[in-house]
Amino acid sequence: MFFYNTLFRKKEKFEPFNPSKVGLYSCGPTVYDYAHIGHARTYVFVDVLKRVLEYSGYKVDHVMNITDVGHLTSEADTGDDKVEKKAKIEGKTAWDIAKYYTKDFFDMTGKLNILKPQVICKATDYIPQMIKIIKQLEEKGLTYVISDGVYFDTSKLKNYGKLARLKIEDLKEGARVGKNKEKRNPTDFALWKFTYLSGRSFDSAQDDGDERRQMEWQSPWGVGFPGWHIECSAMSMEHLGETIDIHTGGIDHIPIHHTNEIAQSEGATGKLFVKYWLHAGHLLVEGKKMSKSLGNYYRLKDVVDKGYDPLSLRYLFLTAHYRTEMNFTWKALEGAQKAFSKLKVQLATGNLQLTNKKEKRVDSKLDSQVEEYSKRFRNYLNDDLDMPRAIALVWEVVKSDIPDSDKYKLIVDWDRVFGLGLAGQEIRNKELVISQEVKGLVKEREKLREEKKWEEADKIRKEIEEKGYLVEDKQEKSIIKKKPRYDL
Ligand code: AMP
Ligand code: ZN
Repeated sequence: MFFYNTLFRKKEKFEPFNPSKVGLYSCGPTVYDYAHIGHARTYVFVDVLKRVLEYSGYKVDHVMNITDVGHLTSEADTGDDKVEKKAKIEGKTAWDIAKYYTKDFFDMTGKLNILKPQVICKATDYIPQMIKIIKQLEEKGLTYVISDGVYFDTSKLKNYGKLARLKIEDLKEGARVGKNKEKRNPTDFALWKFTYLSGRSFDSAQDDGDERRQMEWQSPWGVGFPGWHIECSAMSMEHLGETIDIHTGGIDHIPIHHTNEIAQSEGATGKLFVKYWLHAGHLLVEGKKMSKSLGNYYRLKDVVDKGYDPLSLRYLFLTAHYRTEMNFTWKALEGAQKAFSKLKVQLATGNLQLTNKKEKRVDSKLDSQVEEYSKRFRNYLNDDLDMPRAIALVWEVVKSDIPDSDKYKLIVDWDRVFGLGLAGQEIRNKELVISQEVKGLVKEREKLREEKKWEEADKIRKEIEEKGYLVEDKQEKSIIKKKPRYDL
């Protein structure tokens, strides 16, 4: 199995530290606003990665953080904390903001069949672990304190910037991380930020009547809150150990967030932090990154409101390689929905039903053909998760002349990786066929309505609804529909 490792800018053979178990850490969302489908693309990529590892026989320990503190509006360690800022705007507590948008995020990922990581951890629950790492860095002389916080001295680390291939000397002050006259190097970053200038304790701050943050903690350096990057080092080490196999995120994380995670983790432990760094390309709209700040984003709710199945969006994501940029258009989603529906129909009503009777093999050539498809599928997964070719192979199988039951078995097995819910299609399709029982109830109800027996008719309506259908009364006829599956 080969993955493109950002650290070396090439595909590398995957060899986890433990041959049967993989430690996987994914940078999670900052929960200050609704999740959009750009986020969805990155987390579908993570989900496919995890499913591929499991399909290949690995046990995966998957950890994902929730950033509920410390992510500032500027990457230069200045500006407001995004969560606290939103709390002020909405007149809620910072804790409530984080809780509300965390729920929104998991509502979205659930509808996209994204499996939940085994460990989901909030930054605010790991403050002692973060302080411990900062102390270790301090003991090694890698930090310094200025008036607004404790900073990492990037000039002290030999390989600083190895992931992003940064050269400190090439970076002009202000070019990348903004101006802060007290910082020793432009790339230095905050490990701990003070609520009040030059630290101070809770007590002295209260005496002054200063405005306090909602989220703040006492530390050896003064009252404050952690810098954004330190949380991922702390949570990754806590759950997966000092060195892990795979760390994921969007490409925007390479130059700052992941670069700084490496600096502080390797600075503290003296060990390699991550063996394989995997990064997802962005989802764009008209050539620009879909983002909150540009206002060019869509939520999954917008997708559903326009009549699309969330899994059509997942299908669309699978048709592009995770590392490429992908331009989102409604037309592309329309195309994906059509293809996905066609595939579902093929599985449910077409040729591909799993028959009980054993189909006689005409010759052994067919067996080897099935074997060949399986092999090709695995090869595509192993080649840096080549989902576009894997999806194309599905269609090749559909059009092939291998027995229908083999087609079905292959595709349903592969869906363990695609996560498109294809295995249930046969059953779902049966549900779509309205049973004789429900048809009988509809008839009975229509008769009662003709006789103006409204109460009895209503009882039957309830019975029909309990069986998963909706009844719409048109002039003379009742129209029966399946209850919607997605009620955002
Ligand atoms: P954030 O909540 O901004 O910290 O982002 C959470 C994750 O979503 C990060 O890994 C980002 O790289 C990723 N992300 C944000 N916007 C996009 C986008 N337009 N396309 C793909 N991934 C994105
Ligand atoms: Zn992170």
